[in-house]
Amino acid sequence: MKKLLLATLLALLISTTSIAFAHGGDNPRAYAEKNISRPEFYRSSDGYIFCELYCWHEVGHKLNAEVMDYVAQSDDFKAAIINFLYSELMYNNGERHSMTGNIFLFDGFFVDYYIFPDVTGKYAYTRWGGYNELYAEILYWSGGDIDEIPESLREFYNMDWANWFCNQLVNCVVNEK
Ligand SMILES: [Zn+2]
Repeated sequence: MKKLLLATLLALLISTTSIAFAHGGDNPRAYAEKNISRPEFYRSSDGYIFCELYCWHEVGHKLNAEVMDYVAQSDDFKAAIINFLYSELMYNNGERHSMTGNIFLFDGFFVDYYIFPDVTGKYAYTRWGGYNELYAEILYWSGGDIDEIPESLREFYNMDWANWFCNQLVNCVVNEK
């Protein structure tokens, strides 16, 4: 089983041209690499978002929590991700979706969680990744364009609400397409 996973991973790495490791502004790595001046965040207690560069990521967290009833942790979303990757690996004719590599190698998914010293100093280490972050990251990768999201995953994103949330933020640009 492990060999099969490694083989498919290798095949995917070779055949996927664009593997970008852009991560949301609440990832400790983005702060450590000075991509952002302050860690970005969505605060579930009052719905507040602070973001400068990765607003669609935080909008994703807000959408998940306030509109989609935490669908990112649902069995349906997890199954949809697995099914998407499976069909990308097994059934496509060389035309891979641009998000496939990113999803396949996402932190805390098939690869380990990204563990990094917490910038606040409150905790020695923090973990980032998993389905909640992947859900938000897919919206960020899409740039707010539903057509950029794999078709089988679109039902998990209510773009009317997502656009409305984005509109409330100074640094978020709604995709007008
Ligand atoms: Zn996040």
